[in-house]
Amino acid sequence: MKTASKEISAVSLVEEALEKAHRYQKEYQPFTWINDHAIEQAREIDNRIAKGENVGRLAGVPYALKDNFLSSQGETTASAHILESFTSPVTATAVAKLESEGAIMIGRTNLDAFAHGSSTENSYYGPTKNSKDTECVAGGSSGGSAVAVALDIVEFATGTDTGGSIRQPASFNGVFGLKPTYGAISRYGVVAMASSTDCVGFFTKTAADLNLLMEVCSGQDAKDLTTLPDYYATSPVKSGSKKIGIIKDFDNDAIDSEIRTAMKTEIIALEKAGHEIVLLDMPALKYALAAYYIIVPAEVASNLSRHDGIRYGFRSNSSSSLGELYQNTRNEGFMPENKRRIMIGNFVLSSGFYDAYYLKAAKARTLIIEEYQKAFSMCDFILAPVSPNPAFKLGEKVNDPVSMYLEDVMSVPLNLAGLPGLAIPVGKNAQGLDLGLQLVGPRRSDRALIGFAEELETINQQEKA
Ligand code: GLN
Repeated sequence: MKTASKEISAVSLVEEALEKAHRYQKEYQPFTWINDHAIEQAREIDNRIAKGENVGRLAGVPYALKDNFLSSQGETTASAHILESFTSPVTATAVAKLESEGAIMIGRTNLDAFAHGSSTENSYYGPTKNSKDTECVAGGSSGGSAVAVALDIVEFATGTDTGGSIRQPASFNGVFGLKPTYGAISRYGVVAMASSTDCVGFFTKTAADLNLLMEVCSGQDAKDLTTLPDYYATSPVKSGSKKIGIIKDFDNDAIDSEIRTAMKTEIIALEKAGHEIVLLDMPALKYALAAYYIIVPAEVASNLSRHDGIRYGFRSNSSSSLGELYQNTRNEGFMPENKRRIMIGNFVLSSGFYDAYYLKAAKARTLIIEEYQKAFSMCDFILAPVSPNPAFKLGEKVNDPVSMYLEDVMSVPLNLAGLPGLAIPVGKNAQGLDLGLQLVGPRRSDRALIGFAEELETINQQEKA
């Protein structure tokens, strides 16, 4: 990452990023807000550099922040009307860590409202466009962050991944996207979607940058009791030949032929580089999508119940009683997809249906966890597609929730198991759209996973040359 120094000023880095952000905003809409005050922070970094002070590992590096991270800069809207004009009294731990190393936020990025979606079309502000074809979706929910990195506006952007929201837009835009092990990075100050699968992660242009960001941001946080004790920096990276698992069921006719070809090409390249391919039978994974779309809405319904027009952001002014105020605020403030999830969530948790839906989904989740444990007794990492198809057309799926949910069939299983997943770009299809694949590792294998992605990056570059 290009950091500020005596030779390259933070102001010049930030000016360049802001110029690009403004230039691309109209056509692609990656941002919900562009932070023109970033220049002031850059000046401060330059002054500190001039004084010979230590300005950190990300000195003056401009970055984009998904608009569901709380910070004192700008409003945190989560791209939802109901959080419009919400200014936060707290700063997310991840943001505090990045900024204590000198990173400078130049804009907040667009997402599906409350991160519910796979295309960024559920944003109150309208969709972000794909970086290679403006008629196609950016992917989601972190579409704005993926596009901000793909368009070279910034070298990195933050994201959250509850069921694929980092990996899928990364693969739709040809950048790296890491969803770390559940609990690796604090969720404190991040707008909650589903607390048992939400993860903070990043978009970058290289695997090595992911390593730096993990070094900066991972670690136990007293403000988030689900964070794991620090393990990242000290966890082992094995060199030499690896066993790479390929899930048999993920090679079927429902998957785009060019993605299947990309998988085959990668498998050949891996074998040529001395790695061993292991075929995996993982029948329980077929229940992952159904389990996810029960467990996640249940948690969503609970997490979104706090938005009632009293404490945060928007309040409907057309009410004659308190009950009506709650009702109107929630009705006017949430997007249709938010409401759908609240309804499903409350339904699956209701006393008559809890056993039939929520409990069953929780049991399926355990089976999925066990199946991954078995798989990782036979291989080091799993290689799989991220999604069944490359970026689709804007408007193609947005009115058909089930087809949108099917987008997530290969990204959600590992969220249910808390595993790290890393999307890597592997080239383009015939229409020039980006293709990506994901590497999945056991819990806490993030450092090894990033190391292996670096190796794969080199293998892929050599293959192309
Ligand atoms: N597309 C998935 C969903 O809509 C994942 C979203 C996410 O990871 N935030 O639930």
